[in-house]
Amino acid sequence: MECQGVGLHSGAPVKLRILPAPAGSGIRFRRTDLDNFEIEALGRNVARVSYATSLMKKGVLISTTEHLLSALIGTGIDNAIIELDNLELPILDGSALPFVEMIHRAGIRKQRRPRSYLRICRELELREGNKFIAVYPAETYSVSYTIDFPHPLIGREVFRGNLSDGQYLRGIAPARTFGFLHEAEAMRQQGLIRGASEENAVVLTRDSVLNPPLRFSDEFVRHKVLDLIGDLALVGKQILGSIVADRAGHAMHTALVSRILRDHSLWEETTVPEDDDVPVNSARVLAAHTV
Ligand SMILES: [Zn+2]
Repeated sequence: MECQGVGLHSGAPVKLRILPAPAGSGIRFRRTDLDNFEIEALGRNVARVSYATSLMKKGVLISTTEHLLSALIGTGIDNAIIELDNLELPILDGSALPFVEMIHRAGIRKQRRPRSYLRICRELELREGNKFIAVYPAETYSVSYTIDFPHPLIGREVFRGNLSDGQYLRGIAPARTFGFLHEAEAMRQQGLIRGASEENAVVLTRDSVLNPPLRFSDEFVRHKVLDLIGDLALVGKQILGSIVADRAGHAMHTALVSRILRDHSLWEETTVPEDDDVPVNSARVLAAHTV
């Protein structure tokens, strides 16, 4: 399965392919323009976290990984190789929906090996000024996110969701990234959002939306949930835990990932007994024949 587009921040054209991978190999990115150099989608490779999450290994960069990683977690893909021929993933429509559709077109195959989960055993709370993120023990993967933007269309929005009940595909994947028109020029001067347009982001003026309609009345907080799920994918496994975030962003999301990975007393690796009616507990990969 292949798609092409431009990077949100670089504006660089890029082709992307999602390929199946063996059980237990996790998610890996591969730069086909740099001798197929590979970077694992793991917290230890996180490089930059302002406005998007970037991975770096031996000086090779892969930017804006969060929307595709979110789609892979949301569709239950554990193992895949993501090939791209430039430094930034395509922004497409600004949501995870085009990636979800690509994955569904390719098909999903259950692998023999049981899925290995990262089960949170002990709570962890991180605070930075008025920003907060925490993870608590739970038997499923759930997220509660609060944002508070001083904008007449946003203000305080709260979204609570459980990833185990199909809510991701309907309620989270379609939520698009957003930006404020009055910040655009300053961001461009910093080398950011060079690929941004009304086709790939909700653009907010001081009191309205430049390119309506919204896909959800609370699309903004839903997109933050999408980003959070994509960033937390960098723990390298599906999570069993309850995440609470308040005005967090990529820096807080990835800080949580680093703390979890550094402190093994917070979690255990586990498998969940197979239930034939709910075939979600095996590792999954794209169905190879259709890719
Ligand atoms: Zn995003």
